[in-house]
Amino acid sequence: MNEADTEIISGLLENFGYSSTNDPAIADIVLINSCSVREKAKQRAINKLKQYNSLKKKNKQVKIGLVGCVAQQHANEVQTQIPDIDILLGPDSYRKLTDILISDDKKAINNILSKTEMYDNLQSIPQNTYYGYIPIMRGCNNFCTYCIVPYTRGRERSLSFHNIVKHAKQLVASNRKELILLGQNVNSYSFQDKRFPDVLKAISEIEKIKRIRFTSPHPKDLDERTIQIIAQNTNICNHIHLPLQSGSSKILKAMNRTYTQSDYLHLVDLIKKHIPTIAITTDIITGFPGETDTDFQETLKIMEYVKYDNAFTFKYSPRPGTKAAEMPDTVSENTKSDRLNEMITLQKKHTLYRNNELKNTTQEVFIESNSKKNINHKIGRTETNKLVIIKKGTPKIGEFINVKIIDAAGVSLFGEIE
Ligand code: SF4
Repeated sequence: MNEADTEIISGLLENFGYSSTNDPAIADIVLINSCSVREKAKQRAINKLKQYNSLKKKNKQVKIGLVGCVAQQHANEVQTQIPDIDILLGPDSYRKLTDILISDDKKAINNILSKTEMYDNLQSIPQNTYYGYIPIMRGCNNFCTYCIVPYTRGRERSLSFHNIVKHAKQLVASNRKELILLGQNVNSYSFQDKRFPDVLKAISEIEKIKRIRFTSPHPKDLDERTIQIIAQNTNICNHIHLPLQSGSSKILKAMNRTYTQSDYLHLVDLIKKHIPTIAITTDIITGFPGETDTDFQETLKIMEYVKYDNAFTFKYSPRPGTKAAEMPDTVSENTKSDRLNEMITLQKKHTLYRNNELKNTTQEVFIESNSKKNINHKIGRTETNKLVIIKKGTPKIGEFINVKIIDAAGVSLFGEIE
């Protein structure tokens, strides 16, 4: 979502005659787009900002700013630490950048949340040659007790169906091979009588789209119709990211996830029934307040059952302003670390297990880049979102090609062109 927002901000600045550079030393404006979902990300953003603010010693004209969720939630703290900051804009306030573009004397500081802002009349500038982001909804109404997003990105609102299809057609016309539908809670999309499966279906019918992905869905909003549409349309990738967060129904309730362990397993079974070859990935938090060893064992049990293709695993980190931050943090740091390590070890085993299943199969792979380790090797991606290192053959970047998977190691697959 932040990458998509950066594309929106780039579009806004280009409209005012700016062009982008990767060299901060020659920039007129340096912006950091920030995430406050975890403490570490917030600190990194502020540290980087201080580093870039020192550019002012050499160039008094340069404007330095922070945008995104840290700017939204910690505006006062950032201003105290960096009093001469020029730009501090939350996720709904990017249009305010124009204040500073029109008048050099002004600062652009705003963190008022909007109930309607979708940035849909702004031309975003895609950063990637082959992928195109389409933010179809913004914000979140779920208030999971550990999560800061509803406070930093506000309430849910959806882009008009017409504008989504228009944006998708533009991206395809500019040669984007893969479209990624985005939203904090992407499958709760709702605009007039259109719901998420309608969006998926309409986009899959646009000619020449090779791959469609979406992230992140909430398990409570993933219905059978969506699963059927994925199953029926070959250009919708066979990959679902299905955040679990905890395998314990007690902890899920404390997290306000609104599904139980058995609801989640039922959903996994339903997905596998319709699409047996689907890759399922997830997010899991350990160490949430009140998580006992028995609760943690329930999480491991679900991991064993699903055997995720990959999982993003985290130690719980209290975010100020959330309900969970007021709960006593009952799990020690050592226990959190031990549980995290146990999950990582188990997940590595499952990732290898899933990758080994693909050995000796032929996969359509989209060639993304040269390997950094060996210039003669190429890196591609399967529709199940797995990276493949191609050691033999000379495919071109941007091509789809059939690759025979010959080996698997860690998160990577190795293949050769058929
Ligand atoms: S659904 Fe996702 S974004 Fe919304 S509150 Fe829960 S974790 Fe945060």
